[in-house]
Amino acid sequence: MQNNYQLVETRLQEKCDDGRTVCNLCLWRCRLRHGQRGFCQAHVNRNGTLYNLSYGIVSSAEVGPIEDKPIRHFRPGTKVLSVGSYGCNFRCTGCHNLEISWGVDALDELARGESRAAFITPQELVRAAIAAGVQGIAFTYSEPAVWLEYVIDVCDLARAKGLYTVYVSNSFVTDEALMQLAGRIDVLCSDIKSMENEFYRNICRKAEVHNVLHGIELAQKLGIHVETRTNVIPGLNDDAANLVRISHWIRDHLGPDSPWHITRFYPAYQLSHIEPTPLKTLNETRQQALIAGLTRVYTYGDKGCDCATENAPIEQILPGWKQLHVVNKCSQDCCGDEGVLLKKYERAMGVAFDSHAG
Ligand code: SF4
Ligand code: SF4
Repeated sequence: MQNNYQLVETRLQEKCDDGRTVCNLCLWRCRLRHGQRGFCQAHVNRNGTLYNLSYGIVSSAEVGPIEDKPIRHFRPGTKVLSVGSYGCNFRCTGCHNLEISWGVDALDELARGESRAAFITPQELVRAAIAAGVQGIAFTYSEPAVWLEYVIDVCDLARAKGLYTVYVSNSFVTDEALMQLAGRIDVLCSDIKSMENEFYRNICRKAEVHNVLHGIELAQKLGIHVETRTNVIPGLNDDAANLVRISHWIRDHLGPDSPWHITRFYPAYQLSHIEPTPLKTLNETRQQALIAGLTRVYTYGDKGCDCATENAPIEQILPGWKQLHVVNKCSQDCCGDEGVLLKKYERAMGVAFDSHAG
């Protein structure tokens, strides 16, 4: 196994005359100077070129049924190797995976050129999946668009070996990034968190409902099998009219047979004070969706979103990875502390960061 991680040039970037770069992976479209990192923290401008810090850096891995993603209508009964990295383009106030989604410690280390995180090449990951006896690989736990470079390299190898691929996303992504998934990703499981712009702006000041819906619809048009999911949070998105609007949108834009997964909220992070969603709410939402004409509606009383999975240590899933938890050196070392911009974004978002909450 390879011990040194590598930075890879960001796949969708525009280089500006003044040395800044624009990242076009997600709809933040971060415009960055030398040393600056994007909102997700996983891309850094170094001397006028944007690099993905998290290429091959695996924060979590798990082997389990595809139904856990949740996906019910693509290769049911098969197993997937789920992997995730660090960094996310949202800052959900109820996120269960802050160490992964905010990824501050891990991404700071990577930006400084030293990392103790697990690094695994696409070839090693595909070999590990085959050895684990799974039929597919899922990219999940935080937004996969922020390490698209790795996702694409893994997909190309995985599909050549007969493995299917799953992308669990918040869909706040660019059309350009989605186009890169066509022919590479078999399944998209996307959140529709709410039909209210206010909900989205509270977790990502740039996000609006139509951004997300557009992305989901485009993915389906690109031939990707799409299933959607809503984590119902009491007091935040559990208004019956809001949930009915989601079911209507799915019916009218994805089709009445498009699966919708309604999951139960569990307290975490800044939403630790909110009780789990009453099962009655989940059941009533399902009934309303069926009345609206959706035919495949599922409720989950025992789990939240895929982000909330209790991730086992990587070495438990794939023996041999433990040895990668050593300090690896990046071959470049030009960012330093000025590359650490999270606090600036925190202030802009008006939120405080606690990497150990939740
Ligand atoms: S992927 Fe990261 S760096 Fe790129 S636009 Fe999105 S938040 Fe910004
Ligand atoms: S809940 Fe999902 S989309 Fe939201 S911050 Fe966490 S990983 Fe990102």
